[in-house]
Amino acid sequence: MKITAISIFPEYFSPLRLSLIGKAIESSVVDFKAIDLREFTHDNHKTVDDTPYGGGAGMVMKPEPWGEAIDSALNRHDGIVDLILLTPAGKTFDQELAAKLSSRENLLFACGRYEGIDARVSDFYRGHQRVRLHEISIGNYVLNGGEVAALVMIEAITRLIPGVIGNPDSLLEESHNEIGEVEYPVYTKPAEWRGLEVPEVLKSGNHGEIANWRRREAQRRSKTLRESE
Ligand code: SAM
Repeated sequence: MKITAISIFPEYFSPLRLSLIGKAIESSVVDFKAIDLREFTHDNHKTVDDTPYGGGAGMVMKPEPWGEAIDSALNRHDGIVDLILLTPAGKTFDQELAAKLSSRENLLFACGRYEGIDARVSDFYRGHQRVRLHEISIGNYVLNGGEVAALVMIEAITRLIPGVIGNPDSLLEESHNEIGEVEYPVYTKPAEWRGLEVPEVLKSGNHGEIANWRRREAQRRSKTLRESE
């Protein structure tokens, strides 16, 4: 999979060099590049924002550098590209979309800042023949920029690519699976910690009972945990 992220803070993506995604990049399972939006400006101040038409607080990202940066990023990729415009007003990212995007060849993340990107950028690329446009939010809250949102999406998507997670079985029973449940509680040694015991059934060696217990616990947690805050 080839991934490009466009941002005014390309260094935000350095954590991708760590851990399993870092290994996937090192072994070329994932090809990642962060592009600096300011490279596509033509003034001494490398200006990427301007005041909003119609007035109001804050600044809006100018369409010209975005257009040039996205065109340049498209040249780095072959064929159809899934262009992900990060915005708190978009469709909420979830495991189903992560699974869908994990089978795609080319992902391009556009990370906004300030009050967001001039709306003509999404209008233009929605009609582009090489682009499948997605306007995506990672949740109902507002961040300062799209970089953290892109990192969240890249991690959730790339860990589903075969070869990225050491043991693919660990993906099978995870939370947000096809039946929409969260995972059962998990325990490791020691059997007792600060007076708290590991449930007896998990130490019984009875695989049938363990499976039943886990199913029941997954159902219980799916109902209760989500309501507890
Ligand atoms: N004025 C915008 C609004 O109210 O919709 C918020 C802009 S926000 C301060 C700046 C940038 O952060 C956005 O353009 C987007 O790229 C990113 N962003 C903020 N919250 C996000 C979220 N929940 N999901 C994805 N991206 C987000």
